[in-house]
Order: sequence, then structure tokens, then C-alpha cells
Amino acid sequence: MRLRTPLEAPNGRILKVGEYARYSTEEQNPRSIPDQFAYSEKVLSENNAPDYEKTQLSDAELSGELVSRPGIDRLRRGIARREWDLIIVEDSSRLYRHETECMVLVEEAVDEGIRVICINDFVDTAEPDWRERLHDAARHHAQTNKYTSHRIKRTHEALWNLQAGLGKCRQGYSRRASYPATDREPERGPFFDSVNPTEAAMIKTAYEMVAAGDDLALVADWLSKQGLRKCSGAKYSDYSVKNVIDLIRRTIHRAFDTYRNKVSEKKLRTGKSRQRHRPEKVLTREMPHLRVVSDSLWYAANRMIDSRRRKTNVPSGDDHPLANIPRDSRFPLTKLFVCDICGNKMWSDGRNEGGYRCGGVRSECCWNKATALRDCVHKKISEVVVRELLSLDSTLDILVERINSVLRSERDYERQSLKLRNQVQKLTEECERLGEAVAKGKRDDPLETLLNLLVKKEQ
Ligand SMILES: [Zn+2]
Repeated sequence: MRLRTPLEAPNGRILKVGEYARYSTEEQNPRSIPDQFAYSEKVLSENNAPDYEKTQLSDAELSGELVSRPGIDRLRRGIARREWDLIIVEDSSRLYRHETECMVLVEEAVDEGIRVICINDFVDTAEPDWRERLHDAARHHAQTNKYTSHRIKRTHEALWNLQAGLGKCRQGYSRRASYPATDREPERGPFFDSVNPTEAAMIKTAYEMVAAGDDLALVADWLSKQGLRKCSGAKYSDYSVKNVIDLIRRTIHRAFDTYRNKVSEKKLRTGKSRQRHRPEKVLTREMPHLRVVSDSLWYAANRMIDSRRRKTNVPSGDDHPLANIPRDSRFPLTKLFVCDICGNKMWSDGRNEGGYRCGGVRSECCWNKATALRDCVHKKISEVVVRELLSLDSTLDILVERINSVLRSERDYERQSLKLRNQVQKLTEECERLGEAVAKGKRDDPLETLLNLLVKKEQ
């Protein structure tokens, strides 16, 4: 790329260049990052760039559709601080495969007086037509991913109609390739499944045990002892009750196959994907040659599992009040207090009893595996909150005195007031969360009188 506007060092100092590179999981090429840097530097030297000081930022194995990535976040912070005079990338899709975000980032840079060059897109913000060029390029890059995903989806649908095997080969079946491996080539698909008689016999027995009302843990034990293969990628070789339920629920055993029970949907704003149930997108097909059990046995076993469900009208999916909230941040105090040993944040953990655990344990940088039980923690903290609230009078006095002294001194008034305002906001937020915790605490506690106390206080 030949630049029309020459590269010049700003008056009195060296040119500062920010280089950014990225490759995504699909491309799987770790070499790509040094290559991208080398390419950018080649273009700089071809255009007779003066001596420059460079900062290299990169994101490895991260999709350009993700709005937040460590390297790109660092680049944005650097732009806000005007750390560079020039930002150079191989093409704009390295920055973002996201139309709006890509434009926003480059606009932010230009607003801060930073020149941006996307080599292969012929975008140089020193030229007047850069917005049109960048817009076209960004749209093109964003669409490439869409086309790829459409192509993959189309291929899967064609295979589905061919009655080929898709996804993992499940227990009870064997998979064979249409073109077996030769000396020169590995095996090639499409792949087709057939019933594996040994595994199918074990599965049928499992159905009979469940239908007869056997305990599911017993069935799980039996399957583990029989050594029924688990799907590839399974974490444990033994069967759990959940594994047994999944096995019994699988409709392919009564010759009815489904695919795409969950689809991956991208959140437009963040570019993050999440799995969702979309009943209208599920593909179905009859596969009589894959039958393992009779319809009557399949339904009998499934009815037996249904009959053991104690809660039937629990909202599920997006209707559930806790949908899309990560399990470890569902409680008001998560992240609010820290481990005394390593200083990491304490996270809520565990489903039923539950409590707070040090966040450093999972990353193996802390030995504190103790659990602060949720009820105990909430109770203790509530007590402190109540005590503090009751002594609010004296706190107010101190505050008033402090403000008065600040006003008297008048020095640094602005700075102090800003600092205090921030502090007040932070404390208010924490108080709100603590309040929530109190409200969620034990009902039959003396703390229930908290509200009354507060009311009295206000009068
Ligand atoms: Zn710790």
C-alpha cells in the first residue's frame, strides 16, 4: 500500500505507532500475529516512515465479533490517552468484525488526533474518503462470517436429509465413513450410523430397569459396571443419575431423531454467543433402522422419570427469574467482600445451602477452601448493618463536622467534594446491596424489626 499522505514525526518528538494483530479460533494460526506485525512494519518502511517507537497489541484465538477483548480494550484505553500518533493494522477486520464497533473505534481515534491505517482495505484516515472506504470494508468483513455460518448450516441440513450421522456418535450406535481410510488419506464423510448390538442390549436393559421403577442411581451403577461407552469428550467414565436421565430421554432410541435442539445466538451488542431453545428451528427425522427399544418401553421409562418430578410448574428458560445471570453472581454480596488470606474476591457458590468461597481457589493461588455459609454471613452482616444504622446520629455529626472543616479550609474544595461525592455514591450502592441481603435473610429473625427501627429513625 502506497500512502498518499507521507508519514511524519510530530514536532520535537519521535513518532509513536500502535500495532494491533488478531487471529480467531477458526483460523488457528499462532504464527499469524508476528506475521501481521511484520507486514505492518514492512508497509511503514516502504513508505519511508521516520524512526518510530512501537507498541504491539494482540488478541489470540478470539473472534473479531467480540466487542470486548483484552488486546482491543487496551488499544481503546490507549486511544483515550493519546498514546500513539498512528495505529496500523493488516485490515479492519483485525480490529472488529462488527460494523458499528469498527467505525466507533476508528472515529474515537480520529477524534483524538490519531491516524489509523488498515492496509488491505486501503483505509487511511489522513485521506478525505476514509469513512466510505472503512464502511464498505467493515460491512464486507462482517458479512464474511455470516456467509460462512450460512454455508455450514446448509451443509448440515444437506447431511441431515441424507440421513447421515451428525454430532457425536451416541451410545448404542457405531459410525462408519463413506470413504474408509487408505494408506494415503484419512477417512472421509458423510458418516452413517448403525445399531451396535452389544451397546443396544445394555441400553434396552437400562430402559427395562427404569420402567420397572428401579432407583436411577442403581441403574447408573449398573451401566458403569457394564462398561457402556460414554460419548467422546465425557469428563468421567462412570454414569451419573443425570447421564441415565439423558440416556432414557433420547428419542433416537425409538427411531425419532432430532437435531439443533439448541441454537447458538449472538448478542448484537457484545458479540457473545449463547445457547437457546428455538423449537421452530429443530430438525426432525424418522430413522427406523436406529430403533433400540419399542415405543411402549420408551414411554413407560420416561413416564417413570416424569412421575418422580416433585416440582412441575417451575418457570424454565428465559421465563426463569435467574435466566442469564451467571450462577456465581446471583447473590447480593458476591464480589463485595474479599478473602482474608489472598485478597481475592469472595464469590457465591453452591446451589442449595450455598455460601461464599474465595475466587483464588479455582485458579490455585489460594488454599482457603472454607465456605462461609450464606445464611450465617447474611445474618452477621445484617447485624452489623443494623448496629451501624442505629448509630447513624453520631455518623451524621462526624460528617457535618467534616464538611464544615472542608468548607472552612476551602483549599482543594472542588477536588475534595468530587472525591466525597464518589464515596457517597459508592457507599449508597453498597448499602442498597446490603439492604437486599438483609431482606433476603432469615424471616423469623429479630432482624425483621429492621424496617420498624428505620421507620422510627425517620420520624
Ligand atoms: Zn483466598
